[in-house]
Amino acid sequence: MSYVSETLETVLQKNPGEPEFHQAVTEVLQSLEPVLEKHPEYEQAGILERITEPDRAIRFRVTWVDDAGRVQVNRGYRVQFNNAIGPYKGGLRFRPSVNFGILKFLGFEQVFKNSLTGLPIGGGKGGSDFDPKGKSDREVMAFCQSFMTELYRHIGPDTDVPAGDIGVGGREIGYLFGQYKRLRNEFSGVLTGKGLPYGGSLARTQATGYGLLYFTDALLKANEKSIAGKTVDISGAGNVAIYAAEKAIALGAKPVTMSDSTGWVHDADGIDLKAVKEIKEIRRGRMSEYIKYRPNAEYHEGRGVWTIPCDIALPCATQNELHLEDAEALVKNGCTVVCEGANMPSTLEATQYLQKNGILFGPAKAANAGGVATSALEMSQNSMRYSWTFEEVDQKLKGIMENIFANIDEAAKEYGKPRNYVSGANIAGFIKVANAMLAQGAV
Ligand code: NDP
Repeated sequence: MSYVSETLETVLQKNPGEPEFHQAVTEVLQSLEPVLEKHPEYEQAGILERITEPDRAIRFRVTWVDDAGRVQVNRGYRVQFNNAIGPYKGGLRFRPSVNFGILKFLGFEQVFKNSLTGLPIGGGKGGSDFDPKGKSDREVMAFCQSFMTELYRHIGPDTDVPAGDIGVGGREIGYLFGQYKRLRNEFSGVLTGKGLPYGGSLARTQATGYGLLYFTDALLKANEKSIAGKTVDISGAGNVAIYAAEKAIALGAKPVTMSDSTGWVHDADGIDLKAVKEIKEIRRGRMSEYIKYRPNAEYHEGRGVWTIPCDIALPCATQNELHLEDAEALVKNGCTVVCEGANMPSTLEATQYLQKNGILFGPAKAANAGGVATSALEMSQNSMRYSWTFEEVDQKLKGIMENIFANIDEAAKEYGKPRNYVSGANIAGFIKVANAMLAQGAV
C-alpha cells in the first residue's frame, strides 16, 4: 500500500463521523502521490501523518444571556492546524451546523491556501454553533464577549489571528476585538476584518470576491479566453458573492443569479447589485425580496442556480453546494469555467466530472485566497502602525492572485498534470509547508 493510501486509511479511522474532513484530506492527499514518489524524505519525516493532525483543537462552553433574561449555552471551538510557516490564521464561523469535522476540514484547507498566498501565515479555523440570524445586536454582543472570554487565552498577534467567515462580519469582529482588548489591556492586530477606525484594512471587505475574479481572469487569459461579455452564475449573497458580482460587472461580465439558504434569483438582465446590497448588507433580509426591486426577475425557493445556462460558474455560498447533477447541468448548458469562491463548494464527484469534461476548474484554496491574503496585509499594516490606500491594497491583492495562478499552473505542469489546477494548488501549497516542517525537525 502506498504512503498516501496508508495515511488516508488511518485518517478515516482516527476521525470517525467527520465526512467533510475526510473529503478534504482525500482530495489533497490523492494529488500528492507524484510529489511523495519524488521526495521520499517526506515519508521518513512523517509529514503526511503530521499535516493531517491539528496541532491543537480546543472546545469550550459559551454561556450568555438572551433578551428574555434566559441563560443560553453554545459550543465554541478553535482548531489550530499548522503553524510551520507563520502564526495560525483562519476565520471564525458562527452557524448551527458548526462542529469539529467542519472546522477541521476548513483548517486543513486553510494550511494550503495560506501557503499559496506566499505570505507567512499558518492555518487554523474556529467558530461556534451559535446562530446570529434573528438575534438582537445586544444578544450578538453578549455572545461574542462570552466567546472571547475563553478564546483570548489561546490567541495573539504572533500566535493565532482569527478573522470572519460565515455569520461573522464586521459587527461580530468589532465585539470580539473589544472584549480581547479589555481582557488583555492590549491594542494589537489579534483579529483581522476589523473596522477602518480601529486597525482594519481598506479593501478587506471586497478582497475575497475581487480576488476570485482576479484569479478567474488570470486563468482565462492563460487559456486564451477573456471575461468580458461572459454570463456568470453566482451562488450565495454574502460577502464573497456580493464582491465577486461587483468585480465581475467591473470586468464586463454579467452575473445573472444569486442565492441564500432559502432560495435563489435569476435576473436575465443582470443582477442589480445595489438591490442585493440593500437587502443583505443593510437590512439583513432575504433574497425573496429581490423581485420587489426587479419585477422581471424570478425567485425560486430551494436550490437551482446551476440550472441557468452560463459561461462561468462561481459558487460562493458554502461547502458541498454544487453536486454531481449540477455539474452535469453546467456542462450540458455550455459552461467552460468554474472557480470556487466558497470553501469546498463542489463535491468530489462534481469536481471530477467537471475536470473530466474539460471545464477549467479553479479550486477554492487558490481561487478564494484573496481574503486571507488581504488579512495578512492587514496584519502587516497593524505591525507597522500604518495604513495603505484602497488602491495600494487592491494592487497587492491583484498581484498575489496572479502569482497564485502562475504558481499552481507551473506546479501542475511540473508534475505532469497540465491544466489540473486542483493538483497544482495542492502540490504548490503542500511543498512549502512540508519543507518548513522538515527544516524544523520532529515537532
Ligand atoms: P456570508 O455569511 O457573508 O454569506 C454566505 C452566503 O451563503 C449567504 O448568502 C448564505 O445565505 C448563503 N448560504 C449559506 N449556506 C447556504 C446553503 N446551504 N445554500 C445556499 N446558500 C447558502 O459568508 P461569506 O460570503 O463570507 O462566505 C461564503 C463562503 O466563502 C464560505 O464557504 C466561506 O468559508 C468562504 N470564504 C469566505 C471568505 C471571506 O473573506 N468572507 C474567505 C474565503 C472563503 P443566508 O443569508 O440564508 O445565510
